[in-house]
Amino acid sequence: MPLYIRFWLRVEKRGADDCWRWGGKPRPDGYGELTVDGRRQLAHRVAFLLTHGRYPFIGRHSCDNRICVNPSHVLDGTKRDNSRDMVLRNPTMSGADASDRALRGWATRRQKARVLARAF
Ligand SMILES: [Zn+2]
Repeated sequence: MPLYIRFWLRVEKRGADDCWRWGGKPRPDGYGELTVDGRRQLAHRVAFLLTHGRYPFIGRHSCDNRICVNPSHVLDGTKRDNSRDMVLRNPTMSGADASDRALRGWATRRQKARVLARAF
């Protein structure tokens, strides 16, 4: 069975903007997983592969939902983007630290909008 059929059969698709839950058993860390060409791959990375024709360098979730495989919620990025995103969404950070990070985050949101615009 071709990968894209094997993959999408296991996805609970919802509205275009909703999270699409991977139907397989999640890993202990919360990510979905499946075997592709004999290798274990993270389900959201495979969703990116099937949409863009390649694996992401770093597959990031714009929704922070690890089990989600909606291709419009899976972005490619660098390690730096990934940790910056996590910091920006962390409500416990404080003071100067927060405003400094918020300023840098502005570029990230613009980049994110560009990536999303390209995905549609
Ligand atoms: Zn999602």
